[in-house]
Amino acid sequence: MPVLEIRLYGDAVLREKAVPIRTIDDDVRALASDMLETVAEAEGVGLAGPQIGVSRRIIVVHPPNFEEDGERESPSVYVNPEIVQRAGPQESAEEGCLSIPGIYEQVKRPRHVRVRALDLDGKTVEFDAEGMLGRIFQHEIDHLDGVLFVDKIGPMRRALLKKQLRAFLE
Ligand code: ZN
Repeated sequence: MPVLEIRLYGDAVLREKAVPIRTIDDDVRALASDMLETVAEAEGVGLAGPQIGVSRRIIVVHPPNFEEDGERESPSVYVNPEIVQRAGPQESAEEGCLSIPGIYEQVKRPRHVRVRALDLDGKTVEFDAEGMLGRIFQHEIDHLDGVLFVDKIGPMRRALLKKQLRAFLE
């Protein structure tokens, strides 16, 4: 089970809209297992398919120490995940991304989301996530639509960040 190479900002795959997974077969299960290994190795809290160059709708969430994690089963793999509801106040918190190392910015997102996805048995799961965990789901599901957290910061901060982001492209 290899640790996969994480694609960095500037890689075109990070901007593609990922395609839904039609069948959860052994290939998908192997991919999920590699992604879990990769996110753990990178000490990340989540990873989406495009970040390892696979433009398919799959994410893993790897929050080892979050209290909210108590009721979920681990390992945490979600196929074709979608946010079916957003609620609560917009909250700002610092985010980073394994594909944009070294950059951390305040990002505003709704506090509460309802997530629907398939698990690795093909069963539909639907649950609420809020706070840090809700934020992780929003960040990872954004990746499936080619959206990065730096797209969501204010124009002033973004202008300041431009130079640092350009460095990824060189
Ligand atoms: Zn990310």
